[in-house]
Amino acid sequence: MDNVYKSVLIYGPPGSGKGTISKFLSHSDTVFHVSTGDIFRAIDPKTEKGKQIKKLIDAGVFVPDDVTIDIWHSFVEDKIKKGEYKPNEQFLLLDGIPRTLKQAILLEKYISVEYIIVLEMKDVKKLIDRLKNRALIEKRLDDVDEKILQKRMDIYLNDTTKVLKHYPKDRIYNFNADQNKLEVIKDILGKFAAILG
Ligand code: ADP
Repeated sequence: MDNVYKSVLIYGPPGSGKGTISKFLSHSDTVFHVSTGDIFRAIDPKTEKGKQIKKLIDAGVFVPDDVTIDIWHSFVEDKIKKGEYKPNEQFLLLDGIPRTLKQAILLEKYISVEYIIVLEMKDVKKLIDRLKNRALIEKRLDDVDEKILQKRMDIYLNDTTKVLKHYPKDRIYNFNADQNKLEVIKDILGKFAAILG
């Protein structure tokens, strides 16, 4: 298991600040952030593959597991080749993957899961407000429609619960993401600054 990438997984419902917090953590040289949402959104929508993926994302449904893992793996390999991600020196911070049990199993040959950060949000109204705001700023179609949002929340809760059950409880750390982002970051750094830094 020498060649597996040491990884930290981060989970949080849409609007929990998962992307912002991950980007913040990746300011450390020891953390390389990979977001599958960002990877998928960056695929050229003029290509056949890009067109299909955009359709799925806009409808709020998942990209198939094997396609997700293939795209993720090529992306990571490319970053290693370019010297941007250094597996021997950095943690891989995985944001948005694995999202299903099948993805978790498919990933086992590539990663070792060291820690799991879970952003918990109990205030649904706050969540919806954040998403509406993001829809305006980032022009994300999947954040505009409340029905699609609700579907993504349901899928998130359902699938994350199943994925988290797959991992040892003592690697899972829960954080209260109803707080403002800086407070959430403070809590996460309180736990992880020494480990990741
Ligand atoms: P959010 O966390 O707000 O759902 P993401 O940017 O992580 O947003 O993902 C946006 C969309 O990209 C998802 O709704 C899904 O269609 C697709 N996606 C991202 N990651 C995965 C994954 N691991 N497996 C399948 N689909 C994914």
